[in-house]
Amino acid sequence: MVAIRRFPRVLQGREQASRGIRHIRRLSTLPTLSTPEVEDVVIGAGVVGTCTAYSLARQGRRVKVLDRGSGPAQGSSWINGTLICPSLMLPWTGPQLIPKLLKSFFHPRHPLKVHPSVLCSLDTYYFALHYLASCRPGHGARTTRRLANLARYSRHCLETLLLSHPELNGFMDRKAAGTLQVFDDQTAMQACLDASEEIQRAGVPLRIVREESGSDLADRLRQTGHEALYLYSPLDTNGDCAKFTHFLERQCQELGVRFRYDSVVQGFQDKNGLWEIALRGQPPVRARNVILCAGTGSPSLASLLGVRLPMAPVKGYAITVPLKSGIQQLSSNVVQDSSKLYLAPLGPDLVRITGFAEFAGFDASVDMDRAMILTEQADKLLPNCLDLSRAEYHTGLRPLSADDVPIIGKVQSNFFLNTGHGSKGWTHAAGSGQLVADLVTGRQPDLDPESYSLSRFFTLHQKDTPFDFQFGGADFMA
Ligand SMILES: Cc1cc2nc3c(=O)[nH]c(=O)nc-3n(C[C@H](O)[C@H](O)[C@H](O)COP(=O)(O)OP(=O)(O)OC[C@H]3O[C@@H](n4cnc5c(N)ncnc54)[C@H](O)[C@@H]3O)c2cc1C
Repeated sequence: MVAIRRFPRVLQGREQASRGIRHIRRLSTLPTLSTPEVEDVVIGAGVVGTCTAYSLARQGRRVKVLDRGSGPAQGSSWINGTLICPSLMLPWTGPQLIPKLLKSFFHPRHPLKVHPSVLCSLDTYYFALHYLASCRPGHGARTTRRLANLARYSRHCLETLLLSHPELNGFMDRKAAGTLQVFDDQTAMQACLDASEEIQRAGVPLRIVREESGSDLADRLRQTGHEALYLYSPLDTNGDCAKFTHFLERQCQELGVRFRYDSVVQGFQDKNGLWEIALRGQPPVRARNVILCAGTGSPSLASLLGVRLPMAPVKGYAITVPLKSGIQQLSSNVVQDSSKLYLAPLGPDLVRITGFAEFAGFDASVDMDRAMILTEQADKLLPNCLDLSRAEYHTGLRPLSADDVPIIGKVQSNFFLNTGHGSKGWTHAAGSGQLVADLVTGRQPDLDPESYSLSRFFTLHQKDTPFDFQFGGADFMA
């Protein structure tokens, strides 16, 4: 069990919920123009939306979650790398990434790829403009600090949840105690240590694993002939994000949250201080607050309000491979920085391999040639351990914001965002759910919300068009 300091307020549990109910009763005596069916509507039942609903319900709110899927975690949260890793909070931005992006155009095996199809879309250029602005020298440390602070807070919120539901550890196949980062040479490891300074300052320990004090896993990797240098962080862990989301959905229901699936949101209207949310082929839902947690669907929905989100879907591969019989499960996550390869133990005998970042629009097809590059690299790192003949291949679309930091906060009267979590959404979900819930209910948040607000991007995102009720026209509805 990991001991985490600070952030004591999240531990209030049921006591907090009942206090919230009293608070709401007081609020409900205020005059309103009309009565909403629920106070808060969360759009999206991925890990981020479900954590948001949970945090709201714990504060005694009446919450409804809407999702176009037939159940929870059917988007990016369905199959991911499983890593919950505050130690891996280096952003996907920075001046060093620009030459890598350019190189990727000419190398089919490169972990990064930009598909020519996206170059025809104006959205790509809008994202690229903000992305390049975020890559300017000097922005890296601040971005890393924001990511690391949220990750450590989120780890704390998750640990709190695990304390009240210890059965969740087994349910979500949690196996990893820490992360081992593998480097081919001293220069690469030192560069990572230097870049990770802000992460360590946020209280995330990183330790160099030397020959004489090697972790079990480093020793095993050495035995398989992999001579390398290792960094280890004990704060990290892992788990099956979809199983967690399903579990939390049930907890939410016990707290009174209602989930409505097969419900495609396609418009919003502000009616006398209440939001009316239009659903395709169904009657609208009315609520006081809307919290948009729709992952890669968020930009289209926000644009219906005239709010432009600098976000892009980024395809990644997730491959599940059984261990060969008799092979001992990994004791921690393994990350090979040189090839951007991520391995994590899942349950007793599975390993999840993830990697690659492809700008391919909403195309989530599996390119087997690319997928095989990842399995080859994993096999090289763990020779004779993985039964690649039984590998299962998937892809997912990461909802990446232009500076790789989630976008959390209010954008219009009673309309909130909790989206843009990119490659770190499973790590950040519990903390960002708590943060946005605090903003909705007016409690003092534990983190500085300004660091995550949309206003941190320069003002291109605000269109000065008056708000109007809009249906359809958005490509997310396919
Ligand atoms: C290959 C891969 C590996 C990853 N590995 C890791 C990892 O190891 N660690 C980590 O921390 N993160 C990882 N991530 C990132 C993480 O999985 C995501 O950031 C996270 O799942 C995002 O959650 P979300 O709830 O915001 O989005 P989603 O899970 O996509 O949920 C959004 C929901 O909104 C719904 N929705 C969208 N539009 C509408 C609409 N119009 N009406 C109704 N509903 C709508 C969708 O149906 C969906 O259910 C990985 C991602 C990928 C793809």
